[in-house]
Amino acid sequence: MNSDHSKTTVLNHMLLDGVYESIGISRNVRKYGEEILKGLKERFDRIDETAEYNQLKVIRAMQENRVSEACLYASSGYGYNDIGRDTLEKVYASVFRTEDALVRPQITCGTHALAVALAGNLRPGDELLSPVGKPYDTLEEVIGIRPSNGSLAEYGVTYRQVDLLPDGSFDYEGIRNAVTDKTRMVTIQRSKGYQTRPTLSVKRIGELIAFLKSIRPDLICMVDNCYGEFVEPAEPSEAGADLIVGSLIKNPGGGLAPAGGYIAGKRQYVENVAYRLTSPGLGKEVGASLGVNQSFYQGFFLAPYVTASALKGAIFAANVYERLGFPVLPNGTESRHDIIQAVTLGSPEAVIAFCRGIQAAAPVDSHVAPEPWAMPGYDSDVIMAAGAFVQGSSIELSADGPIKPPYAVYFQGGLTWAHAKLGILMSLQKLVDAGLASLPAAAGDGEGSPA
Ligand SMILES: *Cc1c(COP(=O)(O)O)cnc(C)c1O
Repeated sequence: MNSDHSKTTVLNHMLLDGVYESIGISRNVRKYGEEILKGLKERFDRIDETAEYNQLKVIRAMQENRVSEACLYASSGYGYNDIGRDTLEKVYASVFRTEDALVRPQITCGTHALAVALAGNLRPGDELLSPVGKPYDTLEEVIGIRPSNGSLAEYGVTYRQVDLLPDGSFDYEGIRNAVTDKTRMVTIQRSKGYQTRPTLSVKRIGELIAFLKSIRPDLICMVDNCYGEFVEPAEPSEAGADLIVGSLIKNPGGGLAPAGGYIAGKRQYVENVAYRLTSPGLGKEVGASLGVNQSFYQGFFLAPYVTASALKGAIFAANVYERLGFPVLPNGTESRHDIIQAVTLGSPEAVIAFCRGIQAAAPVDSHVAPEPWAMPGYDSDVIMAAGAFVQGSSIELSADGPIKPPYAVYFQGGLTWAHAKLGILMSLQKLVDAGLASLPAAAGDGEGSPA
């Protein structure tokens, strides 16, 4: 038995060596990757445990809500009595432990989900507070921080912001002073997005919300949960958030949802959002699911393990590049609360090489070479790598980098761990080939060290 087992292991290693070489990864790059992985085993085990826990939560919710084959069918027209859509919303509410949820293909993206969550619950004269600094770029126009047609500011909703302190902690004094009679709603962004502040853990979000509610119990606390779903065993809705909001082409769509967004939380607030999304008086009752139900269910079912794959990819990338001397954020050892990884590469050539590696590892469009380009909303050229099945999906392996100092790339996703790993090895291969990174002199450069 034992020798059979080790023969199989040797065979698998030879097969792997061969396939990596044939796909364009040199022996040295692969060997370096395996060295890094040896140090990550325990962390990966813990990620698998979280995924297992979250997987069971999702299955239990599907069972409790009696998901049936009929739920997978399409509705058309008004979409009255769409049992699949209504049951899916109950499943989301069960998993996120909220009273209600709105999960719809008519929500076009994460920004739209956040925009309707805000507009549905704010009224003229109300004030919105962000106690964690500047929100995600696209929300600037939603709120009216940058003037825009149809912004909340145009409807008489004002905005106030309290930045994090230099060490990344909450400015409790500043927040207390910022809460006034007008303050109606609070927006808390979990992920750092493309900023350099730390991502917030569910625990820290809970502490912040408890503080806010101690000042004014009736504040509506909303969390922008983008990129955070299933990274931890609990979601911010279990730590006091009244509403959590996210995109289905990120974590909870599991790579299968072709579009969409969700809002989950207190029944009244979710209803307010539904009246805004569809129409006053109609709310959740309308909205045909048009055949997306199966992918929404199946994507949510897969999401815990897809998120785990992306998380492993981010941690692997951090360690691969940190060891080579590139600044990485988060660093190789810190705890994770979202799936985004930043790597500072220091030159335009290196950003381009990295992104071309990610692209070359993709299942779709691997033969195209991304080029930096001027993009609306950016003040420099940007290069983007994405060989995705769903356009713009960032739970799929993807990377982008603005061509300006400090020449950092932001990397996220990977529907399977093996694909995330290949993407990172391919990015490194491109850097090594171009002489922009050099591998450390291999420790024990022998043949076939067993894993
Ligand atoms: C992606 C993201 C958004 C916006 O989502 P889109 O689908 O790109 O509109 C908002 N907030 C955060 C933190 C995000 O990561």
